[in-house]
Amino acid sequence: NIAGFDMMDTAKYFDSYINYMKENEHLNFRFITQGCGPTAIVTSPFLAKPTECISLVSNDYLNFSQHPKVKAAAIAGIEKYGTGAGASPLIGGHHEYHVALERKLCEFFNRPEGSSIVFTTGYTANSSTLLSLLKQEDCAIVDMEVHASVYEGLPNTNVKRFPHNSMIHLERALVEAQSKFRTKLVIIDGVYSQNGDLAKMDEIYALTKKYGAYLMVDDAHGIGVMGDRGRGAIEIYNLLDKVDIIAGTLSKALGHIGGFIISTPEIINYLRYQSRQQVFSSTSTPASFGLLKAIDLIDEEPFWRNRLKENVRYFKEGLLSLGADIGTSSSPIIPIKIGDPIRTAQISRMLLQSGVYANCIVYPGVAKKDARIRTSLMATHTKEHLDKVLNVLDDIGKAVSLKKSR
Ligand code: PMP
Repeated sequence: NIAGFDMMDTAKYFDSYINYMKENEHLNFRFITQGCGPTAIVTSPFLAKPTECISLVSNDYLNFSQHPKVKAAAIAGIEKYGTGAGASPLIGGHHEYHVALERKLCEFFNRPEGSSIVFTTGYTANSSTLLSLLKQEDCAIVDMEVHASVYEGLPNTNVKRFPHNSMIHLERALVEAQSKFRTKLVIIDGVYSQNGDLAKMDEIYALTKKYGAYLMVDDAHGIGVMGDRGRGAIEIYNLLDKVDIIAGTLSKALGHIGGFIISTPEIINYLRYQSRQQVFSSTSTPASFGLLKAIDLIDEEPFWRNRLKENVRYFKEGLLSLGADIGTSSSPIIPIKIGDPIRTAQISRMLLQSGVYANCIVYPGVAKKDARIRTSLMATHTKEHLDKVLNVLDDIGKAVSLKKSR
């Protein structure tokens, strides 16, 4: 919003901004994707016709959205109960499959029954939970690169932001907050969505203990994918029973839609009555039966996770041999850092026109001189897919540098 502009003026101004971006071909503008797999048919102003491309844009890391057992379970759920939940959880919309899902999530994270609650999206799991827990006497201490849904939950509380993964700044914020506020909650992501790097969770956890703060980890991109047992980035740090609030999504590795919170049974009960989403918004559909199967598959079919890991290793090695700057990624999210937004947009168009669909991330998604091509890999990408992407990048690199501008 712009000072002095009402909502109509603001929308008009925004429209002219969008047109400027469009003319300068900065935006992944009006892309339509058909299919959620290693390839997808893409419709775009930059393509003469809808074209099958290798897709590097999905967070469906294990591609469980296409798994025959997951689809069969979802269809069976719809056959049994129809397509909607009918109401918000507190007034009749809390169904058998929600109870089963919450129970399964407790088992998955080895927490006592009653330690989990599901939300309609990962976005509302974060925003609605934080809105109900943190008030004006409290303080959220957040890594600057946490997801937008965290910020959405913080308008009624005090917020201290610290530079990404900087322990010196985090400690400073904890010292300042220690005696000033009632609840001090440090909020981080497990895996960061634009860099694909991990939180320094062991050091952060130690600092929260030292200064009497709680820790919330949004592990949207880690759960199902990271750790030997697919319990996420928190498993890697051996903190699954220590983190005070775990937030997760059901829309990425689990291939569906929805979010959840894991915490103490008391916090969960509080959220059931105090989270406005739980009280006022309808909840997930009987297709969630597919999720019950998807969670089982994390243990039953670990080879998907292993294939993904192998793909990540292979692709990263290929990118590095092309001289690409992939930053500090240690997950299936692998940025190719270009820096200059115009060159980044140009490379993303060249990729698309060679049959590779990857996201062009520019300001305000990232800092102005930190534009990048964001790739995310799936377990169902084959070596042939990855080789094709690397060959295309090699060709592009001969015409337009892939090197990061300083
Ligand atoms: N947290 C993070 C770190 C995310 O990247 C996202 C989705 N982009 C969310 C939360 C929100 O999840 P959902 O898409 O399920 O609303």
